[in-house]
Amino acid sequence: MTAAISTKASEQQRINLPGTREEDCFWWKYDKVSEVGTEMAGQEYLQGLLRQQRRFEIEKLLQVPSGIGRLSWLYEHMRQICVELGYYLAQLYRECTERDCPIMRANDTTFYCAGHGNPRPCSAMGYSVHTLDYAVRLLSSGTTFPDRSLIQDSCMKHFQSMVRRLYRIFAHTYFHHREFFERQESATYLYARFVRLARKYELAPESQIIIPDLPTTIEPPTVAK
Ligand SMILES: [Zn+2]
Ligand SMILES: [Zn+2]
Repeated sequence: MTAAISTKASEQQRINLPGTREEDCFWWKYDKVSEVGTEMAGQEYLQGLLRQQRRFEIEKLLQVPSGIGRLSWLYEHMRQICVELGYYLAQLYRECTERDCPIMRANDTTFYCAGHGNPRPCSAMGYSVHTLDYAVRLLSSGTTFPDRSLIQDSCMKHFQSMVRRLYRIFAHTYFHHREFFERQESATYLYARFVRLARKYELAPESQIIIPDLPTTIEPPTVAK
């Protein structure tokens, strides 16, 4: 028996062996965050959940697992949403052009882009890319978030600012590229997860949530005890 074959089962489960089908890759399961055993434990655990959990079961995805703080779980979700928004924008790029959307608008409101020192108008796609870049830089900042496993309450204002700006990307898509929005949402439930996260952690006042409620964005009714 070779050393590779005699690897412990728990380690084997975390290897994509040659010939593994794409849909079977990374298909390992952790029961607790502490089982992951790396510095990126929260991120790996969340990505594992997203592969295995049905994406419309948003409440389960947002539920804070044991072994990680409530705000660290928020941090991991925000990072993951930014990753998925990168793919989202890469596809939106085909239909949200400088010519058709020269200014960032959502419904009738125009937004200035804060990614330039002084806020100024940007195309909808420019605004979206600059805003996502700002959010990723902030989340990666060792000054603002020195330890992702120990997020302070004082960071809430940064999450609120991120959510307010990132929300406009979804709002622009909903009001100006409805077909794209619905196609993406039915495949990924990304907006539903984003808005449910914002509500759970009170990151945005209801007045800023301008996309009408969808079945997936409404909290399930509280079950009477
Ligand atoms: Zn557009
Ligand atoms: Zn800009």
